[in-house]
Amino acid sequence: MAIQRHPTQAVQVGSVFLGAQYPIVVQSMTNTDTADVLRTVAQIIELHRAGSELVRITVNNDAAAAAVPEIQERLLRIGLDVPLVGDFHFNGHKLLEKFPACAEALAKFRINPGNVGRGKKKDEQFAKMIEFACHYQKPVRIGVNWGSLDQELLAAQLDENAQRSDPLPLPQVTRDALVESAISSAERAMTLGLGKHQLVLSCKMSGVQDLIKVYQALAKKTDLALHLGLTEAGMGSKGIVASTAALAVLLQQGIGDTIRISLTPEPGGARTQEVVVAQEILQALELRAFTPAVVSCPGCGRTSSDYFQHLAAQIQGYLREKMPEWRNQYAGVENLTVAVMGCVVNGPGESKQADIGISLPGTGERPVAPVYIEGERVVTLKGEHIAAEFQALVSDYIERRFAR
Ligand code: SF4
Repeated sequence: MAIQRHPTQAVQVGSVFLGAQYPIVVQSMTNTDTADVLRTVAQIIELHRAGSELVRITVNNDAAAAAVPEIQERLLRIGLDVPLVGDFHFNGHKLLEKFPACAEALAKFRINPGNVGRGKKKDEQFAKMIEFACHYQKPVRIGVNWGSLDQELLAAQLDENAQRSDPLPLPQVTRDALVESAISSAERAMTLGLGKHQLVLSCKMSGVQDLIKVYQALAKKTDLALHLGLTEAGMGSKGIVASTAALAVLLQQGIGDTIRISLTPEPGGARTQEVVVAQEILQALELRAFTPAVVSCPGCGRTSSDYFQHLAAQIQGYLREKMPEWRNQYAGVENLTVAVMGCVVNGPGESKQADIGISLPGTGERPVAPVYIEGERVVTLKGEHIAAEFQALVSDYIERRFAR
């Protein structure tokens, strides 16, 4: 059954549309010093080639703001029109005033209402940011984060709660304050001139249950486009599982128009992992397809070696590496399924279900590997070169079936 999307307003961010019935957009954020133009451009290219449709960059000082137009220019020069989102905290109003070319080059501004200033300055500086967004016709994400929640607003909500005859628990007051901060900031932005089609909201928390509750509450209160993400998700499998657990529930309920997975990379690990995880969540939920899916069994006592693990990894890597080129060359190739199975128990059955599949020999089986295409056994591979021959069969199949 198709997932019914929560109805939201469409927003154009550079060349990308999100919200309404547009596909859920994958985005990411660089971790380079934005002032280091070459490293930042290289990472944006890497993230974009991995499938990030929007890339956010930190704009935290004069050097970063001055670098933004050059970053955009270098990307355009190599034909990459990647919408860049500027992440502003504390001094965004000053940077946008001082560096108009930065404001022009960015496709969207991210404003954190908890980090625009304190006291009277908060309202003034927020208004200035919105005025720049109106002037340059840029959409804005009001990005609330529980780690930098507007303390004055939280204090007011806590006082109000303390007056109640049945005070609410602190986590609920915090969640309510997050939602209130996002909604009231968006309302203010609209009174200052931004339209609904120029606003995206997010309320990020690091707890899975908190995040689910906060977005469910947000979705009840607004039809503005929503950016989903578990903040500070963590490292490795912990970050991936927590992000997936939270986002899967919300996406299944139709909530979310764009997603970002905030993983802490392993030292020396690829920043692109957050893009791959975002794509895999959307693909697993059948909301979008990005890369052919490899179905492989976990292996067990029937597998005599780790050969099939290597083959599954090799095929997965090959398909992912080829996708940027194939996306333009082969229509619908992202919907392909490839099975790599470890023995005769489930191997032939699973391989027949896939578009193309191979069933490797398990312990004690004849050393042959039947290959199935669209349910039919087409060839049996044996010998030293099974991996290379199977990869060639996958390429031929793609060429025959998907060539434009
Ligand atoms: S297909 Fe064979 S090797 Fe793979 S998990 Fe099942 S029984 Fe084990």
